Amino acid sequence: MATLFAPAASNALAPRCGPSRLPDGGQTRYETAVNPSRPPIAPDPRRARESLPVVDPALTDRTRRRIRYLRVSVTDRCNYRCSYCMPAEGFAQTARSELLTLEETAAFVRIMAELGVERVRITGGEPLVRKGVVQLVRWIAETPGVREVAMTTNGHLLDRHAEALYAAGLRTLNVSIDTFDRARFAAITRGGDLDRVLAGLAAARAAGFEGTRINAVGIRGVNDGELVDIARRCWAEGWLPRFIELMPIGGLGFQSEARRLSTAEMLAELEAALPLRHRGRPRGDRPRGPAAYWVVTDGPSAGREVGIISPMSDDGFCAACNRARLTARGGLRACLADDHEVSILHAMRSGAPRDAIVEKVRAAVLGKRPAHRMSDAADSITVPLAVMTGIGG
Ligand code: SAM
Ligand code: SF4
Repeated sequence: MATLFAPAASNALAPRCGPSRLPDGGQTRYETAVNPSRPPIAPDPRRARESLPVVDPALTDRTRRRIRYLRVSVTDRCNYRCSYCMPAEGFAQTARSELLTLEETAAFVRIMAELGVERVRITGGEPLVRKGVVQLVRWIAETPGVREVAMTTNGHLLDRHAEALYAAGLRTLNVSIDTFDRARFAAITRGGDLDRVLAGLAAARAAGFEGTRINAVGIRGVNDGELVDIARRCWAEGWLPRFIELMPIGGLGFQSEARRLSTAEMLAELEAALPLRHRGRPRGDRPRGPAAYWVVTDGPSAGREVGIISPMSDDGFCAACNRARLTARGGLRACLADDHEVSILHAMRSGAPRDAIVEKVRAAVLGKRPAHRMSDAADSITVPLAVMTGIGG
């Protein structure tokens, strides 16, 4: 632990985007400043909700994968500095004028929904530091064709926003917690506060959220040995635990390969204490995401499930990928681990008509590789990828 993380003094929460600068999350000010009845690009009247049974060819890639799921990064800022995601010193943040506005984001989501996207996940950076994110959730939830709005958050500001998010139409929450040990949590997030996250989860439950998923990245020398406890804690609280293989992207300050717990290793640790049966990865459009699931077959936890997300171990991981990513800077990417992107921001601000934006989408989707190439990378430091936070994890 000591060699993995920088000293606490240099790891304080970033003052520019930390909660102290966002006493009310900015919701009220933003919501009065926009007119939700006037999206910047009008919807295509030919495509009402009922007429969206199939995915438009623009969302079908060269290997016939269909994009039905859009991850939207609303900010590259974050109030945490997780060691595997962000450099300790942070990074040069994008000027606000270079970020997609929330109105532009909502307008683009509307186009994507008209083309066949059904699920939208709001992420970041930390999505809850973006002013107006509740309004954005509302717009997206009201978008014809969108069946689910989800969010991935570190949970630090969730206690303030859970009720409003639920009221706005958010129904699926993923909260990232790599450990339930307070000191270890503070170390890995470089200043994060586990109690605040737990308060956020309590607020989410009170607001009505069910089946919240807890995402934990498996990191050797950090949370190995704790996986069973993490799973049991989640089950006791009614959350679904999911373990993620460390990927060679983001602001890793260490060798990802050496630190990565493979799926086999995570499973071995879990199976040493829990009898598990493989349930497989849901096929088709992956309504439960990219995780494969195991169910406990016996004992006090019988019937409980645990998920593992295996981007590095599973050669077939990309075969059923149904997602695209909109970066905070308005770039559309068909893959997390590929720098190929088209600029939606530029198209929208240059007044491009809807058809031209659809052509941009088509270009991004046609550029989607059959599979990622992260396994070729020795380490994140040598991988020319944009930081994780701008892309949205
Ligand atoms: N700030 C939010 C959060 O932490 O949940 C949302 C953004 S974060 C980039 C989304 C997810 O990506 C988190 O669950 C985080 O643990 C995961 N993540 C970040 N860097 C990663 C890496 N190098 N390998 C695997 N997962 C990573
Ligand atoms: Fe922030 Fe999430 Fe990255 Fe942690 S994983 S630094 S909370 S964006």
